[in-house]
Amino acid sequence: MKYYSTNAKAPLATLHEAVVKGLASDSGLYMPEYLYKLSADFFDSIQNLPFNEIAKIVATAFFGEDVEQKALDEIVDDTLQFDCPVVEVSDNIYSLELFHGPTLAFKDVGGRFMARLLQYFIRKEGKEEVNVLVATSGDTGSAVANGFLGVDGIHVYVLYPKGKVSKIQESQFTTLGKNITAIEVNGVFDDCQALVKKAFMDEELNRHMKLTSANSINVARFLPQSFYYFNAYARMKAAGKADNLVVCVPSGNFGNITAGLFGREMGLPIKRFIAANNANDVFFKYLQTGKYTPMASIQTIANAMDVGNPSNFARVYDMFDGDLQKIRSVVSGATYSDEQIRETMKSCFDSNGYILDPHGACGYRALEEGLTDGETGVFLETAHPAKFKETVESAIGAEVEIPERLAAFMRGEKKSVEMSADFDSFKNFLMTR
Ligand SMILES: *Cc1c(COP(=O)(O)O)cnc(C)c1O
Repeated sequence: MKYYSTNAKAPLATLHEAVVKGLASDSGLYMPEYLYKLSADFFDSIQNLPFNEIAKIVATAFFGEDVEQKALDEIVDDTLQFDCPVVEVSDNIYSLELFHGPTLAFKDVGGRFMARLLQYFIRKEGKEEVNVLVATSGDTGSAVANGFLGVDGIHVYVLYPKGKVSKIQESQFTTLGKNITAIEVNGVFDDCQALVKKAFMDEELNRHMKLTSANSINVARFLPQSFYYFNAYARMKAAGKADNLVVCVPSGNFGNITAGLFGREMGLPIKRFIAANNANDVFFKYLQTGKYTPMASIQTIANAMDVGNPSNFARVYDMFDGDLQKIRSVVSGATYSDEQIRETMKSCFDSNGYILDPHGACGYRALEEGLTDGETGVFLETAHPAKFKETVESAIGAEVEIPERLAAFMRGEKKSVEMSADFDSFKNFLMTR
């Protein structure tokens, strides 16, 4: 399978090239040339298959031409050492819990899958030291760092905005050591993302070291996110609830929802999607006005979605041939203030006893407000509420227990390199490595 750039000016790339480059040379995002339709038989019996068997079939549709089947199956099994169960929250609303992995957030899936896939290519095609650059607004950094931790021949640099991620999030990538370096940038997430993008474009730097990205722009990170949409459908089908399924995705960089939209293209019977935003509502405004106007990101309590210029918008746009009406026919939007997010956490806890995290709260509320008769909703609960302990506790007025896995990170010692947001200091730092 070849990958093309959404800007259509870069040459087609192999999977290996697309994974190593991250971004295409024309600054576009890679898209698989084909999305294979999965068979009717598969969907007829999907409810009888366990998660990892479903994921192997989906993974084969994406990567089967480029990765030997046995290796691919192993990568999938290694990635999915935890479940993504569907839990009933209220009458017609279900939570797809994506927080049972090592860092308690959905990005664990793509983070681990990408680490293993890159390792597969490095082993297959000979030694070359690879450096992964990843900008994070909170959860990407920890998922990628933990996915790559201890993987031979790969060094990871995590760039994050100083003071703008929670202590718990920070502890998950600053305490690891080994092949993981945390860089604390004096700026916002968009500055971190800009630094990473510039680094990939800098010829001198790229001669000095082999660079690759691990943001949600990377096909190895974002495509595997489609696995759990199929699993959600299977579990809902087993419960007799799969008709008129509406899937709501708390969205920031739009990688997660794009993976779901890909699943739908491959035949997954999802009626429609809702992209739930916090106050960073560029996409919501686009759906309303047809104009895409990036802005500086606004800090909110759902900080993993504080993105003012979502990278994967380019993929959504490309997928629907830039046709606003087509996009609107499948995806609608919602946007919530911090106040509304708090309110939703509280009311959901009071009525259902279910503790939402601030991101999942956007998803839950958008379903509460947006489902019509005969529809059943599944929202992606993208992180464990304990990752946002203070925020959640003050909203619901009850204690949130910290899972031991998280407590262990918080006991670790923080190590980071502080840096300004200008590209020269970042480049100099890397040039001396
Ligand atoms: C990354 C993240 C999101 C947003 O996902 P995108 O793929 O960037 O749209 C939502 N919630 C949590 C907890 C996240 O970590």
